[in-house]
Amino acid sequence: MRDHRRLGRELELFDTDPLMGAGLPYWLPDGAVVRHTLEEYVRDAERAAGYRHVYSPVLGKRELYETSGHWDHYSDDMFPPMELGAEQVVLRPSLCPHHALIYRSRSHSYRELPLRLAELGGMYRSELSGVLGGLTRVRSIQLNDAHIFCTLDQAVDEARAALELIGRAYADLGIRASRHRLSLPGEGGKYVADPALWSRATALLREVLDGSGIAYEEAEGEAAFYGPKIDVQIEDRAGREATLSTVQIDFHQPERFDLHYIGADGAKHRPVMVHRSVIGSVERAVAHLIEEHGGAFPVWLAPEQLAVLPVAQAQVERAEEVVRRAVEHGLRARLHGPEDGTLGARVRAARLVPYQAVIGEREADGDLVAVRLRDGRRIGALSGAELVRRIGERVRARGTGLWESA
Ligand SMILES: [Zn+2]
Repeated sequence: MRDHRRLGRELELFDTDPLMGAGLPYWLPDGAVVRHTLEEYVRDAERAAGYRHVYSPVLGKRELYETSGHWDHYSDDMFPPMELGAEQVVLRPSLCPHHALIYRSRSHSYRELPLRLAELGGMYRSELSGVLGGLTRVRSIQLNDAHIFCTLDQAVDEARAALELIGRAYADLGIRASRHRLSLPGEGGKYVADPALWSRATALLREVLDGSGIAYEEAEGEAAFYGPKIDVQIEDRAGREATLSTVQIDFHQPERFDLHYIGADGAKHRPVMVHRSVIGSVERAVAHLIEEHGGAFPVWLAPEQLAVLPVAQAQVERAEEVVRRAVEHGLRARLHGPEDGTLGARVRAARLVPYQAVIGEREADGDLVAVRLRDGRRIGALSGAELVRRIGERVRARGTGLWESA
């Protein structure tokens, strides 16, 4: 059974400490590499899609969440407020209120829209300790979030483009959506009451899904408190389902924050907010990647991309040169020297590393390395420079293949 908690500890990706607290994992160096690389991937993809990045604080005054509606509809999931002099501050349960304020801080013309603001930022949930474990239910969450402020006419195209961005990311990451869900409100006081806004937003999301040709199911009781959403669902190996990515069209928060833009007619108009997350929380995304790949990450995400194995002490110096060259070219390479055990034991220990370069007497004499791939293929002898160049190509392509067409 591929359990990301077990693999995370075995591969030294992340861990927890009861003194740090339940639901508050920390990232070890190899896990931090995966997380950082994933975050950079998302930022690059967003930049290419016309997003601009911001930073905003992980807490805010209680009044901010009263304005957004979180205080009334979402406080069960929030940490209790902290008293600070005469005010109360709260760890934020989402990034939306901050981005609404950032939008509101400047006046906007229709010509600036759609304005796409993205942030990989922290948010907090007061999950009960009983349901915590690993990276899937955490109290401190790093969310890949963005809010697109646009005109009503632009909302469907923006939401559809966000869905396409999600699809491309899944292909690069080697993960698969198990299904798409249109999440609608259910019974009870959890949802803001404004039937006209709900039905308008729901109709637009249906248009997005129908236009994308994506099969989907509707589910009541799964919406955000302020509006319906498209959820991209993933499944773990045990068949348990979770939401990774979301796209929402929101008329509610622009009202609450009294947002506007100046239209071509010179008058004030209300923008629409499209909320979207490509990989959801970084914690859940990495947990899923660990389980999906059994720790054998795609080359560009792998904490170690190249393992260099000298057969004997006589080849250690040559091996060190290959490691140095790889590191200089931006690859993550390590030496697995004879002091780590027999060659067979070292090959097994490095079985999740995409590329292994073995250097015996013959290779050292010819200035070559014998290349083996993680999937068992043997490529034969190449120069160290050629191998580094080939791996560099795979890393830049950010796909899931190991070698050429593979
Ligand atoms: Zn949002």
